[in-house]
Amino acid sequence: MKEILRTLPKVDQLLSLETLQHYHHLLGHQVVREEARQAIESVRSALLQGASYELGELQDRVLSKLMQRLKIVAQPSLRKVINATGIVLHTNLGRAPLSGQAQQQMIEVAEGYSTLEYDPVAGKRGSRYDHVTDLLRRLTGAEDALVVNNNAAAILLALSTLADGKEAIVSRGQLIEIGGSFRIPEVMEQSGAILREVGATNRTHLPDYEKAINDCTACILKVHTSNYRIVGFTQEVETADLVALAKKHSLPLVEDLGSGVLMDLRQFGLSHEPTVPEVVLAGVDVVTFSGDKLLGGPQAGIIVGRTKYIEQMKRHPLTRAVRIDKLTLAALEATLALYLDPVLAQTQVPVLQMLAVTREELYGRAQRLCQKLHPHLSTHASAEVIPLASQVGGGALPTQDIPSYGIAITTHTLSVNEMEEALRAADTPIVARIENNQLMFDLRTVRDEDEAVIVNTLIHIWGEK
Ligand SMILES: *Cc1c(COP(=O)(O)O)cnc(C)c1O
Repeated sequence: MKEILRTLPKVDQLLSLETLQHYHHLLGHQVVREEARQAIESVRSALLQGASYELGELQDRVLSKLMQRLKIVAQPSLRKVINATGIVLHTNLGRAPLSGQAQQQMIEVAEGYSTLEYDPVAGKRGSRYDHVTDLLRRLTGAEDALVVNNNAAAILLALSTLADGKEAIVSRGQLIEIGGSFRIPEVMEQSGAILREVGATNRTHLPDYEKAINDCTACILKVHTSNYRIVGFTQEVETADLVALAKKHSLPLVEDLGSGVLMDLRQFGLSHEPTVPEVVLAGVDVVTFSGDKLLGGPQAGIIVGRTKYIEQMKRHPLTRAVRIDKLTLAALEATLALYLDPVLAQTQVPVLQMLAVTREELYGRAQRLCQKLHPHLSTHASAEVIPLASQVGGGALPTQDIPSYGIAITTHTLSVNEMEEALRAADTPIVARIENNQLMFDLRTVRDEDEAVIVNTLIHIWGEK
């Protein structure tokens, strides 16, 4: 064993290799040296743990390990992936892709100084929140608006402002958990609000709310059960009835709308989700929703509602801790501006484009992709066009499948798991689904320009086999 270990390459030997020059320039000598040391170390410990490598292949093993490591260090950790899952708002893959207009506005603001908190006409200090207030008023019909870091922060801020040390009434059917350990009861606890649960898991009635109101009640909270459905013998109280009840007792009615759509989703063949303007019109006092779900903008929490409550929230110390960043604000303003013209929004907001694309179009794209792959399949695999079911994702419309098309690849030379792993390990990782021992690429979430990347990556993987 000692003999074998002695033949491991030395750090300096590796550093002088011509193939590493590129990385010396890119990362500096220090980093390459450290990675070389680690690569040697990992082969050494593999040997000690019983790996039986040929003497002659040790150098190659260390070098390939080192190249792998350097490649990873040299590329950004947060980078582009191709989403072939068909889940439009995939939280792990960054939720909503941004429109060209939003990207442009972000670059503009990122490049230099901006009017973030400056009013150039008056020549004095302005407010960062004013940039989107008028847009949100126009688009939702609300009196006022405030934007924060995300919807979780929006709810935390709303409850901290309105119900700290007092009771907030919530139906037991709405005590949701969103991924990433966001739970309504826990957020309430954090805000200082005392959760006053009413009704049962499947049924809550208006008198349940009414009976719970007392001197300590601060607000009524309605939560959109965005990521699950209770079916069967169920009952929730209509928003109109909650509005009337809240008004009768002079309490604010707060609604966490989750995804927060500005458009009627029925035009995309989806079932109806209450839109923000509808909820505002119904008389809900404070409405919160996400910027990066069905709205199709950047991560943000949007609060719209009555000026007196929004003003209170602006003055709360927590607002500073959850404040929105200027790049996000730039992207949000540009996204909202597109909604002033619904047709523009549909054609320019990627999330809406992906929902609006027809099955026929997806079928055509799947056929085209299949044809491009055919000359390269040889004995490696077979590919076919198949109908698939996309999902909205992001905790919206959980029970609804959207009919889609894509391609299914049956692999012959690699196992389906090896293939899936190789796709994820590509320079631009491709995330596909495995179903029935086949790899499924749903084209709804794949952009036209990414089809070539998929083809080239597959050719590369098969070429290496
Ligand atoms: C997604 C969601 C949240 C959390 O929103 P983020 O923007 O991810 O913080 C809160 N409530 C509901 C109902 C949701 O669907």
